[in-house]
Amino acid sequence: MSESTKCGYIAILGKPNVGKSTCLNHILGQKVSITSRKPQTTRQQILGVKTNDHAQAIYVDTPGIHSNNKNALNRYMNRAATSVIDGVDIIVFMVVAGKWAEQDDWILEKLKEATCPIVLAINKIDRFKDKGKLLPLIKEYSQKHNFSEVIPISAKSSDSTQQLEAIIEKKLPDGIQQFPDDQITDRSQRFLAAEIVREKIMRQTGDELPYSIALEVEEFKEKKAIVHIGILILVDKRSQKSIIIGKEGSRLKEVGRQARLDLENMLDSKVFLRLWVKVREGWADDERALNSLGYKE
Ligand code: GDP
Ligand code: MG
Repeated sequence: MSESTKCGYIAILGKPNVGKSTCLNHILGQKVSITSRKPQTTRQQILGVKTNDHAQAIYVDTPGIHSNNKNALNRYMNRAATSVIDGVDIIVFMVVAGKWAEQDDWILEKLKEATCPIVLAINKIDRFKDKGKLLPLIKEYSQKHNFSEVIPISAKSSDSTQQLEAIIEKKLPDGIQQFPDDQITDRSQRFLAAEIVREKIMRQTGDELPYSIALEVEEFKEKKAIVHIGILILVDKRSQKSIIIGKEGSRLKEVGRQARLDLENMLDSKVFLRLWVKVREGWADDERALNSLGYKE
């Protein structure tokens, strides 16, 4: 283990879809948090660890904060997101350039209770066409709170995530590192495997599929240099099952193909992936079912 002299926790917070997971994956150089155009892609808190010679930054990727508190899954996600505010050393509050909404104000109000520095990251500036308006926009957003730093970024480009990392490193408290140099996440390969499959399903199904799917890894073992992975996909309703499977199984096949490529990349091994779908009605509304699927605080 090298001896970094700075170490601390950073929470990337913001409403769903602003690019938190994209940013984290870029910083870490590996997919630890899945992304898609749909809100609610990230459901649980995931740690991402980045270590260099001077510092260890431990990032907490959180589910977005939802204003809809109606079902148990949303309530779980809100608790997971707001409970990190107290425990971290730095907060990165992420918003989208030109898209500041009421929900951002609402989250910022919550963040103001934090005692740590808040860095405002204004994301997706690559999409912001009228560059002349960017400076006034940054100025306007800066005035919403006494931010310790304001940085326009594009989470899709490493240039800007590197700038963000530099800002974070400066603000990290002194401390000894908590994780070995080469560890980049606290999550198991089993967990990441299920997340990768969930990402492919969410990307393949567009708006047809509501968010109530859950995955259970039933098999994960290496046999003769091939990793055999079997994952059960649980859905809420019968109609969702046929959406995921697709015409003559075509969609599930494509999900499996894409997921296998990602998994082979991640595990650096040949992968044999089996997927199947089952209906378990009402799971997203059932606290007990959530617990059994691992959504626990
Ligand atoms: P999260 O819900 O905040 O974690 O958001 P995600 O990281 O899942 O990103 C949501 C969507 O925004 C995805 O489709 C990303 O590809 C997209 N996105 C993220 N960052 C950028 C960016 O800098 N520029 C553009 N154009 N799109 C981005
Ligand atoms: Mg996310």
